[in-house]
Amino acid sequence: MAEPLTLDRRTTLDDLEIAVFAAEFEARAPQEALRWAIGRFGSRLALATSFQADGMALLDMAYRIDPRIRVITVDSGRLRQETYDFIDQVRDRYGIAIEVYSPQAAELETFVGQHGTNPFYRSIDLRVRCCEIRKVSPLTRALSGVDAWIAGQRRDHLASRRGIQVVERDELHGGIVKLNPLAAWTDDRVWDYLRAHDVPSNPLYDQGFTSIGCAPCTRPTAPGDDPRAGRWWWEQQATKECGIHCRIDWSALRA
Ligand code: SF4
Repeated sequence: MAEPLTLDRRTTLDDLEIAVFAAEFEARAPQEALRWAIGRFGSRLALATSFQADGMALLDMAYRIDPRIRVITVDSGRLRQETYDFIDQVRDRYGIAIEVYSPQAAELETFVGQHGTNPFYRSIDLRVRCCEIRKVSPLTRALSGVDAWIAGQRRDHLASRRGIQVVERDELHGGIVKLNPLAAWTDDRVWDYLRAHDVPSNPLYDQGFTSIGCAPCTRPTAPGDDPRAGRWWWEQQATKECGIHCRIDWSALRA
């Protein structure tokens, strides 16, 4: 596919088109949604990934369709060394450029100066504020230059993700198009894909991590735990979301 990634004009979809494509791709393979999106949005499409298993499956699928797929990631500055090393491994393996977006230095310096290095353990407000500065804002900046993005969300991740569509409008990021090609997939299907296509995975999975985020906020889970139980484990009632994919219900978190 030589032409699509040369497109530079804005490409939008109206609500009816989004509904039609969401229905069309619901029962089809993720690769078909990816192929359509790459053709439709060209260089104004980006795959956003934290290089977890879901994101690696999508990266591999998209790369096989068009190796020029734009790959973006957020470096919160608090990732585990294994994750940084793995990102370099992925860059070398696929020979791709990875666009890395970091927190704004001035905003982070003010926050750390006022609240310390690890304020997230002290209150839900500080945890969410940290996620906003270190993750949500950099991704928002990254997505300001695209018309569509690909995310690794699945419906079985969390209750807050049960309603996601394969194609949907992303109101959190200016109404651009968001693709969740793995919406209907399960963990087993993702890992089957990785094994079948010899796709590398973050070595932290071998240490008992089932969801991988920032070092101070993620720990391994025990067999039978919810896969995201290791994220912000000290927050008993809170959603296991950082705010990238949905608005967090503050009132529920503070209750
Ligand atoms: S996961 Fe933890 S360290 Fe990372 S941005 Fe959120 S609160 Fe901050």
